[in-house]
Amino acid sequence: MGAPGAGKGTQARLLQERLGLPQISTGEMFRALKQTDTPLAEEVRRLMEKGQLVPDDLTIRVVRERTGRDDCKHGYVLDGFPRTPAQAAMLEKLAVEQGKPIQPILVDVPQELLEKRMTGRRNCPVGGETYNIYFKPAKSDNVCDVHPEAQLEQRDDDKPETVETRLATYDEQTRPLLEYYRAGNLLKYVDGARDPEAIFKDIEKIVTSEKEQT
Ligand code: AMP
Repeated sequence: MGAPGAGKGTQARLLQERLGLPQISTGEMFRALKQTDTPLAEEVRRLMEKGQLVPDDLTIRVVRERTGRDDCKHGYVLDGFPRTPAQAAMLEKLAVEQGKPIQPILVDVPQELLEKRMTGRRNCPVGGETYNIYFKPAKSDNVCDVHPEAQLEQRDDDKPETVETRLATYDEQTRPLLEYYRAGNLLKYVDGARDPEAIFKDIEKIVTSEKEQT
């Protein structure tokens, strides 16, 4: 868990690459869905462009379907889910059905860093490499280091006006969930204001000790 721009996606990707845990990113699934030409895609596009959440019933359906696939049998990383109390309730039900424990981890980043992380973020459309114009610029302006033929792209929802709404949506709808997990003594914190490798080391410890206990 974490605010938009906290680096959840980067960490989930590392967990997938290094520990073989499938990354289930609802944001990425919705970004793929919005490319299709259906009325549902149009609705998802409209909400995402405004920085608002996709409705719970659709989000829940997508997560239930994805986590039911074979590659999730030995666990998975949810990136950007749950974001509302209804989603958290569904996850608890799902965990019981699947016989798995839940380990919420908060990638904790101070507010002032989040905006720069998001508005500065750029992605390679070919290999998914990520850059940031403030913190990790590409060697050559707006061109991927690995795929020199690719111009870097900015996600529509990383534009400054949308970033503001995304942060407000997080404060209103998702922050209360942290209280809920904190009250149950479940939430683990990692300091997300450091470089991705340092953050990963902490997360890896939490995840591997969780695995040993199960
Ligand atoms: P993210 O990449 O996780 O920041 O997600 C990008 C956008 O996808 C969000 O601003 C929402 O519009 C949508 N989205 C992602 N995950 C969820 C979720 N769990 N519930 C509702 N909407 C979501």
